[in-house]
Amino acid sequence: MAVRSSRFAGPADLHLHSNHSDGTESPATVMRQAHAHGVRTAALTDHDRTTGWDEAGAAAVDLGMTFLPGMELSAKHEWRSVHVLGYLFDPAHEGLVAETERIRGDRIGRAERIVRSIGRDYDLRWEDVVAQTTPDATVGRPHIADALVARGIVRDRTEAFDGILHPREGYYEPHYAPDPLTAVRLILEAGGVAIIAHPVTAGRDRMMPVAFIERLIDAGLGGFEIDHRENTEDGKRTLRRIAAAHDLIVTGSSDYHGTGKPNLPGENTTSDDMVARLIDRATGSTPRLP
Ligand code: AMP
Ligand code: FE
Ligand code: FE
Ligand code: ZN
Repeated sequence: MAVRSSRFAGPADLHLHSNHSDGTESPATVMRQAHAHGVRTAALTDHDRTTGWDEAGAAAVDLGMTFLPGMELSAKHEWRSVHVLGYLFDPAHEGLVAETERIRGDRIGRAERIVRSIGRDYDLRWEDVVAQTTPDATVGRPHIADALVARGIVRDRTEAFDGILHPREGYYEPHYAPDPLTAVRLILEAGGVAIIAHPVTAGRDRMMPVAFIERLIDAGLGGFEIDHRENTEDGKRTLRRIAAAHDLIVTGSSDYHGTGKPNLPGENTTSDDMVARLIDRATGSTPRLP
C-alpha cells in the first residue's frame, strides 16, 4: 500500500494551530517549528477554518514533510464543548463551509459580549482584542487573553484562563456550535475522517457519555485523539478499550499553539500505521507530499 511507503515514516503530529485561529505563528512558521522538533508528517488544524492550508502545505513540502490538511471543528454536547478534528475533507463542501461560517460569525459576537462584560471591571476594550487578531483568524478566548496580557492585567494566557476567562469568574459566554453528531456527519459528507480531539480532559469538559460516543461511532466517527497532554490517564484507558472494541483510529498530537500554550510539536505522535489508515479512509482531499 503506497501510504505505508517510507515517505510517511517518521513522527506524525496531527494537531497544530496557526494564527488563522488561536496559534501565535503563521502557518509556514508552525511547519518550520514542527520540523525543528523532528516532526515529519504534520496536520494544520485551526479552529473552524481551512485558510491556512495552502501556506502550511507549501512550507511543509519545502521542508520535505508530508502535510495533511485538517481542521478542529467546534461542537457542543449539552454543556460540554467538544472538538472534532476533521482530516482530508473537501474544503469547499457547502454544508461544512456554511457551518464553519456560522460558528465563526457567532464567535465574534460572543467575544464582544465577553469583552464588554470584562470591561466593566477591567480596563479592556474590543479594540484591544482586534489588535491581537489577524484578519484571517477564528476569534476565541485566547485572543482576549492576549489582550489582557497586552494591557498588563495578566502575565500570560495560562493566567488568563485560570483567572478572568475561567467560567467561575462570571464573564464566560458560550458560542454557537453544532451537536457532535452533526459535526461528525458534516466531516464525513465532505469526504474527511472525524477524530474526537482530547476527549477526556480534566475539569469542565468531561467525557461525553459512552452511549453517546457509541452513537458517534455508528455515525462513522473515525477515532479518538488519545495521546494528548490534557487527557486523563483513566480516560485514556477507557478510550483505548472503546477504540479496540470498534477498531477505531487512535492518534497522538501536541495541540501546539505557538507561544500561546506550553505544548511543543512532536510531544505526542501518531503511529505510521494510524496515519496510513487515516489517509486510506479519506476521499475529500489528498495529503501534500514532498
Ligand atoms: P474558546 O473556543 O474561544 O472558548 O477558547 C478555547 C480555546 O482556548 C481552546 O481551543 C484552547 O486552544 C485555548 N485554551 C484553553 N485553555 C487554555 C490555557 N490554559 N492556556 C492557553 N490556551 C488555552
Ligand atoms: Fe485552540
Ligand atoms: Fe481543542
Ligand atoms: Zn486544538
